[in-house]
Amino acid sequence: MTVREDLSALEGYHSPQVDVLVRLNTNEAPDQPPSAFRDELAAAIAQISWNRYPDRSATELRAAIASLHDVDPSMIFVANGSNEVLQTILLTYAGPGRTVATFEPTYQLHGHIARLTGARVVEGERGDGFVLDLDEVRRVTTQAQPEVTFLCSPNNPTGVVDSEADVRAVVDQSSGLVVVDEAYGQFSSWSALSMVDESSSVAVVRTFSKTWSMAAARLGYVVAPSWMVAELDKVVLPYHLDAVKQIAGVLAVRHLKEMNERVARIVAERDSLVADLTALDVDVYPSGANFVLFRPRSKPGRTVWQGLLDRGVLVRDCSGWPRLANCLRVTIGTPDENRTFLRSLEEVLS
Ligand code: PMP
Repeated sequence: MTVREDLSALEGYHSPQVDVLVRLNTNEAPDQPPSAFRDELAAAIAQISWNRYPDRSATELRAAIASLHDVDPSMIFVANGSNEVLQTILLTYAGPGRTVATFEPTYQLHGHIARLTGARVVEGERGDGFVLDLDEVRRVTTQAQPEVTFLCSPNNPTGVVDSEADVRAVVDQSSGLVVVDEAYGQFSSWSALSMVDESSSVAVVRTFSKTWSMAAARLGYVVAPSWMVAELDKVVLPYHLDAVKQIAGVLAVRHLKEMNERVARIVAERDSLVADLTALDVDVYPSGANFVLFRPRSKPGRTVWQGLLDRGVLVRDCSGWPRLANCLRVTIGTPDENRTFLRSLEEVLS
């Protein structure tokens, strides 16, 4: 049996995992969530009615997230990681005969999931320093008339934050839906959340995987106009969000203060890592995320990646990706991990 013709040319999404001491390749949080959260979750799990389906509309969790962002719960859709949020948006608004626009380089899954739904993907180019080029945005939105346009701010894998003026310009030029993927939004200096209202087609996607130290839980959401959320609710599978995850989300939101402290620590570590990297023989891109993209100047990226791995430090090798020749991406870890990374990098570069 052969697969759908349009799928046969696609490759899956790969992020190789290696068992090493210092793992700085998948943009996870360096710490566990607060221990009080874990105790509360364990106690709450003991109370679950396992014979019953979970609350299909995840009422309590939506309300908790809505109060975080001061919006109505009808503007929140929650799913299994922001990847499933992206998939549900694309199943609803992309699909065969429709067009999705991305500005490259950016998060690979935007284009990948769009193609899985059968949509055509039009790849616009970013300008120097991976910043949005508004002439290119105009060209793409005018020629392709995309039903969905993706932005990613801070952008993965570059770390670059799109300016508020640029995001507004993209929204003004688009006749379709604009999805701003803010998986790393809390590490950034601004958010597009204030652009979401009932009268515009802007959706902001967030995740518990990074800031909230909860990658294992697979929990993400979108803040969007309620008419869009109502459509997403029709498309997603019934009871997609299990009871444990719903409780985990509700309890996590009660620990906002600790989460904000973690974000502040990571941002401070990131800024000091960027300063230290700048002194080495590498080009460093400005980052508003919990990772930093850099390019060794006088050694091939792949050689540097292998040299780091030989010293027990795993970073993401983007050196063979289109538009990212020789680039490597390092996640901000604990202060100890960051020091080990820097020391190893100095050795490899010398
Ligand atoms: N969006 C971006 C930009 C990401 O980098 C990631 C994780 N790599 C995701 C979405 C998906 O995150 P999750 O499914 O864990 O919420």
